[in-house]
Amino acid sequence: MAKKPKIAFFDFAGCEGDQLQIANLEETLLDVLGHVEIGEFREVRTGGKGPYDIAFVEGSITMPKDEERLKAIRAESKTLVALGACATIGGINCMKNFLGPGVYRPEVYGDRARWYETYDARPLRAVVPVDAEIHGCPIDRDEFLRVTKELLLGKKPWLPDYPVCVECKMAGNVCRYEFGELCLGIITRAGCKATCVTEGARCWGCRGLAPHANMDAARYVMEDRAGRSRLEVQDLMRMYLGYTSTTL
Ligand code: SF4
Ligand code: SF4
Repeated sequence: MAKKPKIAFFDFAGCEGDQLQIANLEETLLDVLGHVEIGEFREVRTGGKGPYDIAFVEGSITMPKDEERLKAIRAESKTLVALGACATIGGINCMKNFLGPGVYRPEVYGDRARWYETYDARPLRAVVPVDAEIHGCPIDRDEFLRVTKELLLGKKPWLPDYPVCVECKMAGNVCRYEFGELCLGIITRAGCKATCVTEGARCWGCRGLAPHANMDAARYVMEDRAGRSRLEVQDLMRMYLGYTSTTL
């Protein structure tokens, strides 16, 4: 009988909401487990050793010692997948980068700040090569299943290369700009079915920039057309896109 591919889940700085999405697959997860062997997956089981066919890694890198651990995971994994916004684009952890370590370390650790070698947050690809990305905060469970299936079949996972606005229009939503609000769907990679707008909110950009996103046009729409201040637009962009927008 052919050996099952071995997959594992690891986490760095983040809320672990993406692994929770996978644990919550429940009966579908049992189907997946029929086709793979699970190595490390702290939210579901203890133990497990490499090497791995696929390592799914959640969270952003926020300490020098994270880099060593991530490189060790990379070394024993054929395929490394960044799981969720913190791992793919740095996510909300990167908001602290705009303050500088002299501010955020004492703010979090008080007079023990020197005990913790935290530095500016960064996505996995800033430290090691990443083979595939599953975007979102949290990830979409169906997308996780599709990408995992594609990887197990030896295919390059498909990623939408168009913005959230496309899915938003398909969902029949009225654009938030019609209500005088801001929305980052114009520059954000699709794949979530515009879920936040459909639920009455706006897009904050958790899936990262769409390829070829026109940042100048986006700023023109938000500042000149929607009449919002540069500071408000900057705050919105820094929520999820802080690392990306400073490394463009
Ligand atoms: S609400 Fe946002 S995602 Fe929807 S069409 Fe308008 S800008 Fe695009
Ligand atoms: S609408 Fe925007 S913020 Fe909401 S899940 Fe989709 S990409 Fe993320």
